[in-house]
This record gives sequence, C-alpha cells and structure tokens, in this order.
Amino acid sequence: MDVRLITRWRDLTPLAANTLLILDIDETVLWFPSISVAWWEDLLIQLTAKHSAEKAQQLAREEWLRIVSTETPVPTDPEGFRDLNEEMDRTGGRIVFLTARMESFSYLTRRHLQACGISKDVEIHFSSSKGEAIRGITARHPLCTNIVFVDDKMTNVQDVQQRNPTVHCFQWGHVPAFKI
Ligand SMILES: [Mg+2]
Repeated sequence: MDVRLITRWRDLTPLAANTLLILDIDETVLWFPSISVAWWEDLLIQLTAKHSAEKAQQLAREEWLRIVSTETPVPTDPEGFRDLNEEMDRTGGRIVFLTARMESFSYLTRRHLQACGISKDVEIHFSSSKGEAIRGITARHPLCTNIVFVDDKMTNVQDVQQRNPTVHCFQWGHVPAFKI
C-alpha cells in the first residue's frame, strides 16, 4: 500500500466506519517550538565533540526532557483534530496514541496531550518498535475493522507497513521545523 503525505487531519477523512486511528504524538499531534531537526543535529554535534556517542545520546535525551518538562506543546492542527474527533464519534471510531517516548514519561505525556485539548485519559502505548506494537494494539480493538496509522517519521511508517500490510499508513508532514 502507498504511503500518503498529509498536512491536515481532514486529509484523513472521510473515514470508514469503525476505524481504529493510531497516532504518533511528537511532531504529529503536537510539537515544541524549541525543538527541531536542526536543534537535534546541533546538540548532537556539540555533545559528541566532548563525549562518547553513548554519553552524547544520554545527554541529548536529558536536554529534550528538560525542554518538554518546562515548555508547553503546540497542537499541529487543533481545529482539524476537533473535527476529526467528531467524525470518529459519528462513525464508531477510536483514537489511540503510539509514541516512542519511554513509559516513565506517561504522566508528562498525558499533561502534554491535555495542554493540546486532548483528554488525558486516552489510550497511550509506549514503544519504539511501532510495527510490532501495532499488532497488540489492534488485538485490543477487535471491533475496529479499518486500521489507520499516522507518524511523521518515515522509518516508523515503513516499519508498521512492512509488518502490518493491511494497515493504512500516512506520513504527517506539517510541523515547519521538521519539514520533509
Ligand atoms: Mg514523531
């Protein structure tokens, strides 16, 4: 199945009835203005000049955590997401989240979603092996017959598609600092 690049939530509609919509969080549903591809690259260059690769990765993750713990995230398409939610309600669909964040950030992640107008009580799965995680998620929702996955990272989209060929995959390409 082809992967389509989308820039607005309405690009997903109309959705088939009983859709299970599995969404990535960072740079898909929300983003932080201080964090960009260039920011990650500069940070890693600076850190690897002074530290081992492993230590540099650890320090970069700590810096990321410092920013996301103190800054308020911005939703990528708030009006579109509201409309999408209404459409899901009308058509018997379900939205769940699948993030590569560590599960220890669950509380913080729910706070970020809430800051973007999304209920903090939503279903969130934490896994960096998204292709594998999708199987467990779909098994939890046997009544959903149409599975849709959206992520800004092509490597995640490809992983999901290769392991789950019946899932409809979309790449989110809207966040300016993460322009593809
Ligand atoms: Mg992402």
